[in-house]
Amino acid sequence: LGWYCAYKPCSRRQYAMFYAPRKQRLIDEEYVQLLFSVYCHQFTGIEGIYRDSLTGLYNRRAFDQRMQSLVEYSRQPVRRSRLSQPAVFAMLDIDHFKRINDRHGHVIGDEILAEIAQMMAESFREYDLLFRYGGEEFALVLMDMDETLSHQALERFRQRVEDSDFPHHEPVTVSIGFCRFDADAGVQGLIERDDQALYSVKHNGRNRVQRFPLS
Ligand code: GH3
Ligand code: MG
Ligand code: MG
Repeated sequence: LGWYCAYKPCSRRQYAMFYAPRKQRLIDEEYVQLLFSVYCHQFTGIEGIYRDSLTGLYNRRAFDQRMQSLVEYSRQPVRRSRLSQPAVFAMLDIDHFKRINDRHGHVIGDEILAEIAQMMAESFREYDLLFRYGGEEFALVLMDMDETLSHQALERFRQRVEDSDFPHHEPVTVSIGFCRFDADAGVQGLIERDDQALYSVKHNGRNRVQRFPLS
């Protein structure tokens, strides 16, 4: 059994190809490796259009497509009982980000965006979906967790940001709204639910995780 691998793009994924040669059949290993590299480059090129260049997270284009297919997939009755299901849809907004930019400049602002994205990638699981929705707003789909556990995970993340030291050595906080991933609400409906939760946080001091519906 031979194996070929050499590629680790920024997507946190590694590609490998396994090859079981038939008995006494010679293969040109270099040629196979070359073909594999070309394939990987093409694949990551395609994937690249779904990545945000500053943060490395999935971008808005990926969000629109992935969310639509998740909603459609989850709506199929036969799929509802399958194990791996989206559980919670959350939106995260950095607090007073305009003020940070104004005081410390866009370069520092960009660094903070990249650091928070990096923390998200470290804090959530490989199979959760993390998107840069736009500007200083991020969207998350947490899989296979009930709302209580999701709330705890989001709260741990909020606390981690609050406790972190950033390049400008001043506190940065985030506000988070989340709702159950109810496919029947549709993508727009889910966004509106989180917006309502976020609106409440922003008008009640920021730096908090808020569930929809508000209780
Ligand atoms: P709030 O707490 O209510 O969310 O206030 P805010 O200042 O975070 O929100 P607002 O929508 O007023 O400002 C968002 C700012 O984010 C404005 C824009 O200049 C900045 N921003 C958006 N995208 C980027 C980016 O890619 N890099 C940098 N440095 N700043 C960005
Ligand atoms: Mg915003
Ligand atoms: Mg903001």
